[in-house]
Amino acid sequence: MKNYYQPEIETMPLDELQELQSKRLIEQVQYVYDHVKFYHDRMDEAGVKPQDIQGLSDLSKLPFITKDDLRDQYPYGLLGVPLKDCVRIQSTSGTTGRRVVAFYTQEDLDVWEDCCARAIVAAGGTKDDVCQVCYGYGLFTGGPGLNGGSHKVGCLTLPMSSGNTERQLQFMTDLEATILCCTPSYAANLGEAVNERGMKDQLKLKAGIFGAEPWTEEMRHNIEESLGIKAYDIYGLTEISGPGVSFECEEQAGMHIQEDHFIAEIIDPKTGETLPEGETGELVLSCITKKAFPLLRYRTRDLCRLSRKKCSCGRTHVRMKKPKGRSDDMMIVKGVNVWPSQIETVLLNQGYEANYQIVVDRVGNHDSIEVQVELTPEMAQNPTLTIAQREKKITSGLKSMLGITVDVKVVEPKSIARSEGKAVRVIDKRHLY
Ligand code: ADP
Ligand code: ZN
Repeated sequence: MKNYYQPEIETMPLDELQELQSKRLIEQVQYVYDHVKFYHDRMDEAGVKPQDIQGLSDLSKLPFITKDDLRDQYPYGLLGVPLKDCVRIQSTSGTTGRRVVAFYTQEDLDVWEDCCARAIVAAGGTKDDVCQVCYGYGLFTGGPGLNGGSHKVGCLTLPMSSGNTERQLQFMTDLEATILCCTPSYAANLGEAVNERGMKDQLKLKAGIFGAEPWTEEMRHNIEESLGIKAYDIYGLTEISGPGVSFECEEQAGMHIQEDHFIAEIIDPKTGETLPEGETGELVLSCITKKAFPLLRYRTRDLCRLSRKKCSCGRTHVRMKKPKGRSDDMMIVKGVNVWPSQIETVLLNQGYEANYQIVVDRVGNHDSIEVQVELTPEMAQNPTLTIAQREKKITSGLKSMLGITVDVKVVEPKSIARSEGKAVRVIDKRHLY
C-alpha cells in the first residue's frame, strides 16, 4: 500500500502533468498581467505579452523576480487580489535582511496545507497518528503549515511551537506522539535530551519531518539513531507558500516538487541561463495556482539540482536534491568558497554531533576562520584522544575538504547555545555585506 494524499495528482503521468502545468501557466501569466501592475510593467519592459506564453517551453521568456523586488514592493505591491480577499499573512524569518510579507487567500491556504498533508502522508501519516508540531508558530511558516497539513490528514495535532524541551518531551510521551515536525537542529536537540534522560524506550515516534534549514546526511543519520525514527526532509519558503513546496517520500533520495502548483527551473546564478536537468544551480520557482501573492520565476538563491529519474514511490513529480545552502550562505574565506555544510560533514564523520559554530574574522587583509565544536558526552567520559589530538584530526579533515587551514577548538559539552528554530552556525565578524 503506497502512501499518497492525492494519488491522482501525485502519480499523474508526466505528459498529463506537464500539460496541466502548461495550461495553468498560460492562465497564471494572463492573471498576473491583468491584476498586478508590477508584472504588467515588467513584462512590457521585457517586451513579453501574455500571448507569447503558450506553454512550459516559453517560461524562460518571462523576467525573473528577486528578493530585492519583493523588498521594493513591500508590503502590497505584488498583491494579485484586493486586500479584503486575503485572510492571512506570513513572513520570512529574516535570515538575510529585511523581512518579506506574503499574503494568502483561503484557497491559497488550502493549497499550501494540501502540500503539507502530502508530505505527512508520504512520511507514513494517517488519521491514527499523533503529530507533534514544534516548528515555531506565528509569522514563521513552519508551525502553521504543518499544523494545517496535519489537520487535513486527520492526525491528532499537538500545536507545541518551538522551545520548552521539558514540555515537548512530556507531551511526546504522555500523548504518544508518532510524528515529529521541527527544524533538524531542534530535532537533534530533542534527540540529545531524550538520550540524556534515558527515555528513548518510552517514545512512540516513527517518523520526523524536518526542514527550513540545510542539514547533512550525517545529521539525518544521527537524528534517526537518537530518536529511533525515519527522518524525512521537507523544503519550502515563505515567498512561494511555506514548507511543502517539496518533500521526501520513503526513498529518502531527493524531494518531490509539487509540480501541479509550482514549476521548477535550475539556472546558472551568474548568467541566468536555464541549465539542463542534473546540473547544479539556483532553483527558480513559479507559482501557477496562487492568487494573493503569485510569484513567477522567483529566484530562491537555493542551490540544488533536479532529477526526473523514476522514483520507486510512484510519484511522477520531479525531485530536487537537498539544497546545500543558499548562494548567500557561501562564505569566501582566504579566497576559497566555504559552505557550512562541508564543515558539518567533516565533524559528524568524526563522531561529533551538530553542536558547532563557525567564526570568521579579518585582521588587516587576513581572514581567519575558527570552528568550535563540542565534545559529545561519551567523548568527555571516555577520552580516547586528547583535546589537542582531536583538534589536529579535525583540522586535517577540514584541510582536505576545504583546502585551507582552519583553527579548531574542541569545547566542553553544552557550551555552545542550542537552537529551537533555525540554527545560527556562522558568525561572520568581517561585515563584508
Ligand atoms: P528566511 O529566508 O528568512 O530564512 P524562510 O523561513 O521562508 O525565510 O526560509 C526559507 C529558506 O529556508 C529557503 O529558501 C531555504 O534556504 C531554507 N530551507 C527551507 N527548507 C530547507 C531544507 N529542507 N533544506 C535546506 N534549506 C531549506
Ligand atoms: Zn518518491
